[in-house]
Amino acid sequence: MPGQPDVLIIGSGIGGGTLASRLVQHGLHVTILERGGFLPQEAENWNVDAVFGEQLYVPTETWCDKHGNAFRPGTYYYVGGSSKMFGAVMIRFREADFMELVHEDGISPEWPIKYPDLEPYYALAEKMYCVHGTAGVDPTEPPGVPPYPFRNRLNRRS
Ligand SMILES: Cc1cc2nc3c(=O)[nH]c(=O)nc-3n(C[C@H](O)[C@H](O)[C@H](O)COP(=O)(O)OP(=O)(O)OC[C@H]3O[C@@H](n4cnc5c(N)ncnc54)[C@H](O)[C@@H]3O)c2cc1C
Repeated sequence: MPGQPDVLIIGSGIGGGTLASRLVQHGLHVTILERGGFLPQEAENWNVDAVFGEQLYVPTETWCDKHGNAFRPGTYYYVGGSSKMFGAVMIRFREADFMELVHEDGISPEWPIKYPDLEPYYALAEKMYCVHGTAGVDPTEPPGVPPYPFRNRLNRRS
């Protein structure tokens, strides 16, 4: 590799990719190491049966759960990571989501950080990822959510 990076990021998913983008904006030289290749562009990319039924793009390796039962991970080893297949819904968690939550399948433990810790980064990420939305209409919305940079497509004519 030419030159010496300031930062080496392992994995080019949303986490690694977002971090790389911000660091480069601050003048740092970043290298990303990615274990996967490029996702081949083909008709099956848009075929729900192929993607989720046949699990065409997830690795054939098996992982083990805490009981030792093997399962095939729903992860994607490609440039872009899981963002190659994700639903493109950029969720701004609610304050309650950071507290202990009892779900049908178990307990989601309280987070060591809370909504106010992440709040400034939500605004940055929503701008960076061109999130569409309408602030102020959802009663569960935390206070002080800035207007979304792009309007909700569903409300375009309102
Ligand atoms: C089908 C699907 C739909 C989803 N829909 C949504 C949604 O609508 N909204 C939402 O918020 N979230 C959604 N998610 C979850 C979201 O996509 C993931 O939480 C997010 O993409 C994870 O990003 P990441 O960077 O943490 O990890 P990943 O995307 O998994 O990226 C990790 C990267 O690291 C690489 N890597 C791993 N090990 C190594 C190694 N040893 N050396 C080099 N590279 C390595 C991998 O190949 C991969 O590219 C969805 C997930 C899936 C699978």
